[in-house]
Amino acid sequence: SHSEATVGLDRTPPSGVDASIPHSARVYDWWLGGKDNFAADRAMGAALIGAIPTLRTMAKENRRFVHRVARYLVGEAGIRQFVDIGTGIPTRPNLHEVAQAVAPETRVVYVDNDPIVLAHARALMISTAEGRSEYIHADLREPEKILSDARLTETLDLDRPVALTLIAVLMLLRDSDDPAGKLRALMDAVPSGSYLAITHPTGDFNPAEMNAAVAAASQGGMTLVPRTREEVQRLFGDWELIEPGIAPVMAWRPEDGQPDDPHAAYYWAGLARKP
Ligand code: SAH
Repeated sequence: SHSEATVGLDRTPPSGVDASIPHSARVYDWWLGGKDNFAADRAMGAALIGAIPTLRTMAKENRRFVHRVARYLVGEAGIRQFVDIGTGIPTRPNLHEVAQAVAPETRVVYVDNDPIVLAHARALMISTAEGRSEYIHADLREPEKILSDARLTETLDLDRPVALTLIAVLMLLRDSDDPAGKLRALMDAVPSGSYLAITHPTGDFNPAEMNAAVAAASQGGMTLVPRTREEVQRLFGDWELIEPGIAPVMAWRPEDGQPDDPHAAYYWAGLARKP
């Protein structure tokens, strides 16, 4: 709950938002320098930085991947439709801004289950003469609800290729939530030529720091499930991985040369195409 000191510093939480327990969207917002977070989120964020001192840089590297993969999908793969699940609090540039800078007619459907993201949905719902973006308040663990939502079916043509983007969200699902099965339902609903992009935190690069982060998260009541390269690869099923395959996020098609230490951000990244 709020300490005396934080009351008055934080604005009143939007309806449905429980500021007393940390939420991934707000913790991530704080790492990125945003203002939509509360004392409990900052405490959790700081505890995680205690475990992984370079977390802020990692969050930024994850965002840079979003920009690169969107430019690749629109610019090189000809994709004009996206479903982005686990969108987070809007942060500039958002996915639709990157995509529409390349092809203004691109359509994006955003999905998140956090009420604070819903409170910002206006910033994610933009209709221009050409393009469009929509927001659905829904849970990745209920893919059929996402797929049958009128905002999705009226915005996208599911007979044409779609890019599914699940960026830094699958680690918030436990194995018992069946992340692979939920993802499979989404993958089965899109046609050949569609794409799936994933980033996922891993213990493969620095097991000690990632273990400490998992412990800090669990102490704060937050789920964090890092996964191995093989586990991440399995999520793509039989879809064809685009070069360079499953790679450290910093080494995935970097636009300004290979980084000195691609393992400095503890995320795997991958993009695959449905055969
Ligand atoms: N994809 C963004 C934000 C990542 S933060 C980026 O990488 O920059 C993770 C987001 O996933 C949060 O906004 C959180 O609310 C959302 N999320 C967590 N579990 C979810 C679920 N089961 N269904 C939908 N969204 C979820």
